[in-house]
Amino acid sequence: MNSLRPPASTTSALSRRALLRGLGGAAALAAFPAPLCLAAEEATGRARRGAAPLKITKVRAILTAPQNRIRLVVVKVETSEPGLYGLGCATFNQRPLVVKTAIEEYLDPFCRGRDADNIEDIWQTAYTSSYWRNGPVLNNALSGLDQALWDIKGKRAGMPVYQLLGGKARFAVDTYTHASGSEIAQVVDNVQRFIGEGYRHVRIQLGGYGSPQLTGPGDFAAAGFGLPSDTRMDPGPYCRAIPKLFAAVREKCGDAVQLLHDIHERVPPMDAVRLCKDVEPYRPYFMEDPFSPEDIGWFRILRPQTSVPLAMGELFNSPHEWTGLITERLIDFIRVHISQIGGLTPARKLAALAEAFNVRSAWHGPGDVSPVGHAANAHLDLAISNFGIQEAVRFNDATREVFPGAPTMKNGYLHIHEAPGWGVDLNEELARKFPLPEHPGYWQPVRRNDGTNVKP
Ligand code: MG
Repeated sequence: MNSLRPPASTTSALSRRALLRGLGGAAALAAFPAPLCLAAEEATGRARRGAAPLKITKVRAILTAPQNRIRLVVVKVETSEPGLYGLGCATFNQRPLVVKTAIEEYLDPFCRGRDADNIEDIWQTAYTSSYWRNGPVLNNALSGLDQALWDIKGKRAGMPVYQLLGGKARFAVDTYTHASGSEIAQVVDNVQRFIGEGYRHVRIQLGGYGSPQLTGPGDFAAAGFGLPSDTRMDPGPYCRAIPKLFAAVREKCGDAVQLLHDIHERVPPMDAVRLCKDVEPYRPYFMEDPFSPEDIGWFRILRPQTSVPLAMGELFNSPHEWTGLITERLIDFIRVHISQIGGLTPARKLAALAEAFNVRSAWHGPGDVSPVGHAANAHLDLAISNFGIQEAVRFNDATREVFPGAPTMKNGYLHIHEAPGWGVDLNEELARKFPLPEHPGYWQPVRRNDGTNVKP
């Protein structure tokens, strides 16, 4: 009981006076005569009364692998209203069990009893609840919680989440898809096939990242260094092959298709600088991840040397990494992994920051994001003005059954399921039929010829 709290009628009068002071006293009185002020206060009160308080009763992780044995982690937030729950993506394919621990051993007890409506407060307090922060595991867990709260918010409002963000800025989400092949001719064929399917943007890769098939087994393997499953990647053959790949695709597929390429941070920084300059005549839509996050200082060296658009950020975890790149106009596309940075709450702020510097979005949308996470990407894509492009995703039948309402592709556009919240549900009984594979899911080592480890 707060003995200092005035009676309700006094509170109403005080808050009206405070409002009028804020609006400029007498001038505001003229603009808002007392009956109107009272009407506004009553309306506000009614709006607040319209939604009963909603408490979080449980936060748990659901692990499932219906899509190519990828280890998906989904957070389910249950509430005091029976049947009202939210879903969020917390997938970290290489460390799913530690994310599950962070969710169930730490976020669940932290969240129980809290007001599910107060997303910003829950995000800020959960973010600092570990004191040390900005790491991938805790950010993934936080993302699952955050996205689940936005799902609940949408369901309570009876609106898709993009409506809560201001509504649609475009009718659907334009995407790029991946064309690869061990030979240049194969890549050309695949690009032509995707153009035939309606895609306007295609990422071209020669084999795996860094074209490891262009090199033989490393000397490290003959020397018994590392394990036989470790792969070799050398910058020379890769950097010489990629401009030839761009030239061939442009010659065979024409100028209309937008071409993208992912360097995947696999070459020394100056090799990446040279490669960006070498492909400039073929007008890439963007060159992705020329440097590792540890090397982002190199963007100041790269930027003045080429007009090739640059995309960066799928490994980023925190504002420390992206703020300077955006405010110094060193990149053209920010492509963070939304669950890696902590969910929709930080992502919408990042989008607004980027808009002020005319940096566009290209949120990371790989296979190791759940359909809930892809829906979150798409809802944000629909609502922001500085949307650039989205990575296409195609779910198999099993994933569609486990996640009813998963987004769908049509003519190269990603479409969400129009329903309150994210529009995606989870069939838990079916999800249990796709347990995680026994292999823990490490990223396999990539090495230079002498065995030196390469950032992946
Ligand atoms: Mg990438």
